[in-house]
Amino acid sequence: MSGTPPTMIGITLPDVDVWSDRVTVALGQNPSVFTGPGTNTYLVGTGEERILLDTGSGLPEYLPVLEQALARVGCRIQEIVLTHGHPDHIGGAASVIGHHGALRVSKRPYAPFDERHPVELTAIGDGDVVRTEGATLRALYTPGHAIDHLCFVLEEEGSLFSGDNVLGVGTTVIPAEGGDLLDYMRSLERLLEEAPTAIYPAHGPRIDDGVAKIREYIDHRNQREQQILAAVGEGRETIPDIVALVYAAYPESLQIAARSSVCAHLLKIEREGRVAREGEEPLAARWTLA
Ligand SMILES: [Zn+2]
Repeated sequence: MSGTPPTMIGITLPDVDVWSDRVTVALGQNPSVFTGPGTNTYLVGTGEERILLDTGSGLPEYLPVLEQALARVGCRIQEIVLTHGHPDHIGGAASVIGHHGALRVSKRPYAPFDERHPVELTAIGDGDVVRTEGATLRALYTPGHAIDHLCFVLEEEGSLFSGDNVLGVGTTVIPAEGGDLLDYMRSLERLLEEAPTAIYPAHGPRIDDGVAKIREYIDHRNQREQQILAAVGEGRETIPDIVALVYAAYPESLQIAARSSVCAHLLKIEREGRVAREGEEPLAARWTLA
């Protein structure tokens, strides 16, 4: 799961593209409603060996695209670094190693995700640095979309590899498994503090103004939260009723998809003590202002 709404369908990107002197993208060849044009995988650095950041889903069509990217910039893979353990990021690691030989694979450990993949992992976490010629990647622990999520600052550019926390198109999904909107909002604030120049997202095109995009994400969520609080204040107690008001302008298919997003918001503001829940199962509960 990467977390992208249907608005990303229809966006196409080249298989291989050079996005800066230090950053080349190879598209994961896994387009879907969840991944948009597919997962961006990045060759980072300037030397004969570069870091591969994320690996796509593990589809055989990806390997020739990766070959093409390696040939385009004239490098080999030094090691693999992963933003998180969702299958469209870690899924290609085994086949890349199968093709290129043993490589170190670093990520923040999270057993429930990690043990689904036959790859030996090296643990990294907040503040850790991975270096190659021309690139210094500094890890930022940024949970919310996924509990094991790392973003990476590319120190030489002041740019940011945002993983699934900030996307080139659309908004990030907060999944029921391992997702947490309150953590996610804190992670966005943390990313804003870094004041990134460009953002290289895991899905969609390069973002030229990182700060503006992160602000847009924060504003969008805050606006949604106000609308949801207002709906609850007006006596809308169930998630379908809240969705029907807040997403009145959207088609029914999107309204159903919006239920999980509204649920994530309610769980966040419940943690903040602003709403109360009657019922164990959040999606079926009755919600009132606290
Ligand atoms: Zn993801």
